Amino acid sequence: MLRLPSFTYLQPKTLAEALRMKQDAGPQGAYVAGGTDLYPNMKRRHQEPKTVISLMGIAELKATAGTTVGTGVTLTQLSVLPSFRRRYSAVAAAADLVSTPLLRNMGTLGGNLCLDTRCNYYNQGYEWRKAIDFCMKKDGAICWVAPSSPRCWAVSSSDVAPVMVALGAEYVLVGPQGERVVPAARFYHNDGINYLTKQPDEILTAVRLPAPDGWDAVYHKLRRRGSFDFPVLGVAAWVNWDGATIADARIVLGGVASYPQDVPEAGAALQGTALTDEAIAAAAEAAYRPSKPMDNTDFDLSWRKQMTQVYVRRALEELRSRRK
Ligand SMILES: Cc1cc2nc3c(=O)[nH]c(=O)nc-3n(C[C@H](O)[C@H](O)[C@H](O)COP(=O)(O)OP(=O)(O)OC[C@H]3O[C@@H](n4cnc5c(N)ncnc54)[C@H](O)[C@@H]3O)c2cc1C
Ligand code: SF4
Repeated sequence: MLRLPSFTYLQPKTLAEALRMKQDAGPQGAYVAGGTDLYPNMKRRHQEPKTVISLMGIAELKATAGTTVGTGVTLTQLSVLPSFRRRYSAVAAAADLVSTPLLRNMGTLGGNLCLDTRCNYYNQGYEWRKAIDFCMKKDGAICWVAPSSPRCWAVSSSDVAPVMVALGAEYVLVGPQGERVVPAARFYHNDGINYLTKQPDEILTAVRLPAPDGWDAVYHKLRRRGSFDFPVLGVAAWVNWDGATIADARIVLGGVASYPQDVPEAGAALQGTALTDEAIAAAAEAAYRPSKPMDNTDFDLSWRKQMTQVYVRRALEELRSRRK
């Protein structure tokens, strides 16, 4: 059985208190929300904080008002809140597709958006990783997926993050220097180790969603076991209608790069069209080309690449069927 290392557990009641505790703990401190990602990672010694600061007692993070959602909201709450399901069905659907009911009851929006990147050579116990001499994401020097590569290719595996990027959501961050707001797309880096642009002390406090006005979005997920698994491909499709034609569109891929990958060519292929079969085929082809999964998650990588085309087509067909 994998055991947690020993650590000091702190329970601040306010954001200011949490920030102070993190500054006191320095690089040895880590925030935790539901713990469904951090604690398994600590058991495998991926992260080894000496001080863990829980965000779950901070009421400000649970506030949801209008188009702003606090990051302390659980995935279950996101997926069942009737007002949310009605206005932000793609976010609710993505939250509902995360792992199992138990994990969704504990897992939060903030933890999902800050989820560690994943790789078959990394998401293993300490002894397993030691046996292959580790890798550069933790304790080692080489990448076992691409041994000549100077970077880590671990995969962004959040279900909700691609939807937030597709919607053009904004993230509110609070740190020792105050508050700042960043577009969701700028919160992520295409680097398996430095996958967030967030400073270590900063807390992601809220997500600002666009007003539900003239646009529609869907999320489709590929995984082996529908009841449980992480995405090995996620497709978030967003379209902004201007009457019968599309004024603007975004296709964002999850599970194929170290960040939620916006494919502007795919969005451009839809602009000015009425989501005809031809436009959908062009967008699916445009998304297929830059989709470059690596051999470090489930399924054969060339099949996952081919599935990009299929899943983008299905997502866009669903958007079209909703207009009828
Ligand atoms: C078996 C299993 C299956 C899973 N399947 C899926 C899946 O299909 N799809 C999916 O997306 N995820 C999946 N997960 C991962 C995880 O359960 C969810 O992503 C969950 O939403 C993480 O939220 P959390 O609150 O538990 O995060 P935590 O574990 O508490 O935190 C995760 C990370 O985010 C940081 N963090 C958390 N909140 C904040 C904040 N407000 N500000 C700054 N940093 C913060 C923490 O420091 C930590 O680094 C799975 C996990 C397991 C164990
Ligand atoms: S992609 Fe390479 S460096 Fe990154 S976790 Fe996997 S094996 Fe390690």
